[in-house]
Amino acid sequence: MDTVTTAEIRAAIRAIPDYPKPGIMFRDITTLLGNARVFRGAIEQLVAPWAGERIDRVAGIEARGFILGGAVAHQLTAGFVPVRKKGKLPHQTVSIAYSLEYGIDHMEMHRDAVQPGERILLVDDLIATGGTACAAVQLLRQQGAEVVAACFIVDLPDLGGSGRLERLGTAVRKLVTFAGD
Ligand code: AMP
Repeated sequence: MDTVTTAEIRAAIRAIPDYPKPGIMFRDITTLLGNARVFRGAIEQLVAPWAGERIDRVAGIEARGFILGGAVAHQLTAGFVPVRKKGKLPHQTVSIAYSLEYGIDHMEMHRDAVQPGERILLVDDLIATGGTACAAVQLLRQQGAEVVAACFIVDLPDLGGSGRLERLGTAVRKLVTFAGD
């Protein structure tokens, strides 16, 4: 297959105004996932910096991070670790609180999901304020893992999330940006 361009990745993401509430431009990646060529090309581009490097596991953030993270893990021959909303995982968990627009939530992973010193890639579909991804980085670090980078298809730079992650010392990989959101 020929190389997928950034313009093609951008064009494969559907924009839905005022979803889930007025003023939000929702970036819907289901249209990208449904396009075999662009889906494969986007995964190949996400993992390109780590081809041939040791990545022990990929941690995916519920729920779209599961779809992308599973594909990334397969591509890198790495394990996959789900980072989930509170109360969804069946075994003993570790959890971290993080701020939502209104109030606090918790994300969890299994206590034995990563081992100290493991090299982890964090994956989600999109970074906005960075609250979700920063909490996931902290949760993984609390277990002694090294978060090699956080990878996203979409960055909304005006919301400052990638800067927040970089200030935590986490490298950020993103494929497209939508400014003005
Ligand atoms: P944040 O914690 O603010 O970086 O928000 C990131 C999480 O919320 C990701 O899991 C995204 O899937 C979701 N999200 C936030 N804003 C949007 C948006 N405009 N379009 C699609 N998903 C979004």
